[in-house]
Amino acid sequence: MSDADQELGDEGRLRPQEASPGAGSGDDSYLHPLFPHDVYMRQALAEAEAAFDEDEVPVGAVIVHQGRIIAAAHNQRETLQDPTAHAEMIAITQAAESLGSWRLIDCLLYVTLEPCPMCAGAIVQARIPVVIYGTTDPKGGACHTLYQITSDTRLNHQCQVLGGVMRDESKAILQRFFAKQRALGKK
Ligand SMILES: [Zn+2]
Repeated sequence: MSDADQELGDEGRLRPQEASPGAGSGDDSYLHPLFPHDVYMRQALAEAEAAFDEDEVPVGAVIVHQGRIIAAAHNQRETLQDPTAHAEMIAITQAAESLGSWRLIDCLLYVTLEPCPMCAGAIVQARIPVVIYGTTDPKGGACHTLYQITSDTRLNHQCQVLGGVMRDESKAILQRFFAKQRALGKK
């Protein structure tokens, strides 16, 4: 990841609320307070906005490789009527196609909501080394909140996870969505 980190420079800011202990090793300059996580999380939020406009639960994700966004996706569960069509799953497939490899090494995955068990499992399968998420998911979070799949040393891969990057924005769009759904009497 050193190349990517050097390319990304030292603008932007980060206020990590949590970091998984004991996961991964080596270069962790993405933990630097000046790493521009908000630049990429803003793109994930733009994807969440696209989901909102499609009446999908607004979660967005991007995957960054060597300073370049190689995948951008949002939740499409309703549109595709596919329970696996979470933002991270679609982004992981896009990134693997982009790199021509199922191993997403040297990639950073940004997602507005803490990954669920399915997506955390896919993150492990894809060997993604770093995940950055916005807001925690008390009903499904599988990186910190309910399970710690991404840092479970019984599995053959662990990744570093930072939560709380642009947490307020990531949470606000979800609250806005569910308020709208309630107003429409849908949920
Ligand atoms: Zn998921």
